[in-house]
Amino acid sequence: CGIVGAVSTRNIVPILVQGLQRLEYRGYDSCGVAVHAASRHAPHRGAGLQRARSTARVAELLQQVQAEHIDGATGIAHTRWATHGAPAQHNAHPHFSHGRGHAGATAGSARDAAGRAGDAQGKAGDAQGKAGDAQGKAGDAEGRVALVHNGIIENHEELSAALQASGYLFTSQTDTEVIAHLIDSHYSGDLLAAVQASVVQLHGAYAIAVMHKDEPHRVVGACAGSPLVLGVGKNGAEHFLASDAMALAGVTDQIVYLQEGDLADLQPGRYAIAGKTQGGASQPLTPAQRPV
Ligand code: GLU
Repeated sequence: CGIVGAVSTRNIVPILVQGLQRLEYRGYDSCGVAVHAASRHAPHRGAGLQRARSTARVAELLQQVQAEHIDGATGIAHTRWATHGAPAQHNAHPHFSHGRGHAGATAGSARDAAGRAGDAQGKAGDAQGKAGDAQGKAGDAEGRVALVHNGIIENHEELSAALQASGYLFTSQTDTEVIAHLIDSHYSGDLLAAVQASVVQLHGAYAIAVMHKDEPHRVVGACAGSPLVLGVGKNGAEHFLASDAMALAGVTDQIVYLQEGDLADLQPGRYAIAGKTQGGASQPLTPAQRPV
């Protein structure tokens, strides 16, 4: 339903949350934010992808983010209007890919450990609760790819069957999660290349914003059949993505409207847009000179 993304050199969480608030009028059933975490406030967690998701209002998401000291200079955020999968926290965006064989493996070992503790102490109920917590934390701490998506992926079942066969474990009922795993499966050090390779496999409508844990200063966007705009930051040091320019009001008034099939590559000092050729092949990345 609503997307906001940013690369900056300051803590960008307030801007992401404000952006979501500007999109609230469209309606939503859940919301979430993910950042490349700054470790300043939470050194025990270290850097890496962290997220908070909620089925409550954006204001409550903000409280959650503050309570958990989630901040960072690179991030993506979403308000969801469910099309596939019930409105629930585990279906809310951002979706993570943990890589082949990882989401369930982590959660599974937490459950096993808790299960053993439960047997030993006869407190299975407590242990179960702790396993749930551990699962949430472990899952959130170890994301490789974080992604938000507007639209509907029509061939998600077929893609997800192939990804499951190659070892990806799904943790939601959405049509969105498949895109995160697909991008992970194509990733070899360059997020833009992985997104380019992935979107040609998608049938349906999408606007996406994606981050990878190994590229802490980069957000990549792509859209087809669902709008996405790039906001050029005032001082050139930060850039933004949004599904609606309104989300960026007050942050920038320099907006680039992405065209069908475009990809956007955002880094703090630079941005670029890569378009598709008529044949559907991707052009090499060139600095964006499109008039705004
Ligand atoms: N189809 C996706 C989902 O159900 C995205 C919905 C949206 O555009 O908010 O999670």
